Amino acid sequence: MSSHIFYRKFFFLLMIFFGFNSIFAQKKFTVVLDAGHGGSDTGAQRSYGDLGLVQEKNITLGIVLKLGRMLEKSKDFKVIYTRKVDEYPSLTSRTDLANRSKADLFVSVHVNSSRSSSSTAQGTETFVQGPNQNKTNLDVAKAENDVIFLDEKDKENFASYNPSSPESLIALKIQQSKYLQASLTIGGLVEENFVKKDKRMSRGVKQENLHVLRMNAMPSILIETGFVNNYDDARYISSEDGQQSIAESIYNAIISYKKLVDRNVKEPEPEKPVEQPLKNDFRILLMSSPSRYTVDDPALKGLKYILPIKENGFYKYYYANTNYASIRDTNLKTAKDAGFRNAISISFVPNQALGTGYYTLEIYAGKDKLDSKSAVMKMLPDMERTKENGIFYYTHGRYRTLEDAVKAQKELSDKGVTNTVIEKRTK
Ligand SMILES: [Zn+2]
Repeated sequence: MSSHIFYRKFFFLLMIFFGFNSIFAQKKFTVVLDAGHGGSDTGAQRSYGDLGLVQEKNITLGIVLKLGRMLEKSKDFKVIYTRKVDEYPSLTSRTDLANRSKADLFVSVHVNSSRSSSSTAQGTETFVQGPNQNKTNLDVAKAENDVIFLDEKDKENFASYNPSSPESLIALKIQQSKYLQASLTIGGLVEENFVKKDKRMSRGVKQENLHVLRMNAMPSILIETGFVNNYDDARYISSEDGQQSIAESIYNAIISYKKLVDRNVKEPEPEKPVEQPLKNDFRILLMSSPSRYTVDDPALKGLKYILPIKENGFYKYYYANTNYASIRDTNLKTAKDAGFRNAISISFVPNQALGTGYYTLEIYAGKDKLDSKSAVMKMLPDMERTKENGIFYYTHGRYRTLEDAVKAQKELSDKGVTNTVIEKRTK
């Protein structure tokens, strides 16, 4: 290997590891601020006697404008808003804007809501790209190649870059993994500030498959700043002081994060090893019960992302899903903090077909038979009906893997058939 080629390769790897944009010191650090919802899309809302109508779209805009004003005071930052007024840009136009502007960081601000009307769920949580999103992010990164690599100025450095070569693909995969690591870092800083500075309750940093994160070719976080249907949270996030504190916490996190990025550029030595994804997915088993709860039942203590799986007549309630050890541990802690003291993490082999048996969907369970004229009977006329201990069970479909069943469940839910339960039948 000639020294010239070696230099080129080394430089290329350096760019991969320490950020394409930040290596040029004079370049501004571009942050896209995304105020969730807007216009006719109000987001989560709730009316209170003393607070009036508390609407997510107004809170997210209030926080984002305060945060943007702080960042704009520094010449180091360029701030791009997906909206500055009460309008609704589509999710795709929000991510397109971020990718086009070659942003260094994407911050989406939202307000949470749990499904039960009187919420015990409270506090903040921050989402990063989910366990199954890597492929999509990779596709986006490939599609955005010209944007990422072929800047007029960078063109010479990347003249040898060919996005379809396996070597380049590996480089892109490393880049994707770096985005996730960077997102986890900034997410952790935000949640830490909420706890330490603002004395909020934090539900941690989590992975979730969300469109607005999936389509971004840069480190991205989505911050849920509080629950609209929890009175204390609603009062805080709808107040000027509360919004100012939230904006300051996010601002401080961005400043700390930028310092880490800058230090990485200058001192490449103390690079922390990138956390590698595990082979298996991990869900947290909250409890096993003969009772069939809907996902918003108080028995589930306000936790979201619940997946019930029925097995041998028992409903097992699983919480969240990740293939990263650090996030699995956070999820387990969240479950225990919520009151599931015997919660344990269970590993799932992705896309594993059952040796014998299959997965099916339990559409309905109840004392009465379904009316043959009901909408669900018309939509799924070939349901299988069984009766056990005076309860009628209606099931539909046969699926080889849990992932297939989850997909079918989602499709049914989109058609209005909700609260179905995946059943594992091993005989
Ligand atoms: Zn939202």
